[in-house]
Amino acid sequence: LFLTLEGGDGAGKTTQSTLLEEWLTALGRTVVRTREPGGTEVGVLIRDIVLHHRGEVAPRAEALLYAADRAHHVETVVRPAIARGDIVVQDRYLDSSVAYQGAGRVLGRDEVRDLSLWATGGLLPDLTVLLDLDPSSARARLDADDKPFDRLESEQDDFHARVRAEFLALAAAEPQRFLVLDASRPAAEIASAIRERVAGLLGG
Ligand code: C5P
Ligand code: MG
Repeated sequence: LFLTLEGGDGAGKTTQSTLLEEWLTALGRTVVRTREPGGTEVGVLIRDIVLHHRGEVAPRAEALLYAADRAHHVETVVRPAIARGDIVVQDRYLDSSVAYQGAGRVLGRDEVRDLSLWATGGLLPDLTVLLDLDPSSARARLDADDKPFDRLESEQDDFHARVRAEFLALAAAEPQRFLVLDASRPAAEIASAIRERVAGLLGG
């Protein structure tokens, strides 16, 4: 089973993936919790380039770096875990690329999605949880938690508005794969909505 969490910075992806991992582990399932970019040793190097040289890297190069990170991560971590029967709980996957590089950097939805599908051999998640939050609430939340929001500030507000709108459009286009949740709700409520949906996927 391959489960991904998507949404902007400050939406609570890390909190929810931690809670989901705890719940699945308590059920006796083996969980591989991972993330992109940076879920592998090679990926950590790529993460360093895309995050520390953000704005300097040409948009198409940025898209290719995320795709390279994803290709390596899927081949060395995600597919082996799925093959073992483990449950993969992952912060960010191809929808982040479509939203950030496709819409944010205006490279185009289909182009970025096709690149990612090529990179991964077409691997799609069984479920993608979209934690939807407006960018100004996300910024306020990161600020309240004393987390740096330099990443948010480094880009214009319309960049984050485009990213959010694209995530919602992706979810609307694939309602079976997506569970969209209002990320301003209490974390415990969000966690229980996620558990309910995942329980349905665990089957027998
Ligand atoms: O979620 P995480 O903190 O790991 O993401 C790191 C940063 O990379 C975030 O600020 C996010 O906006 C950015 N990102 C991106 N394009 C992606 C994935 C993440 O711009 N495809
Ligand atoms: Mg996070």
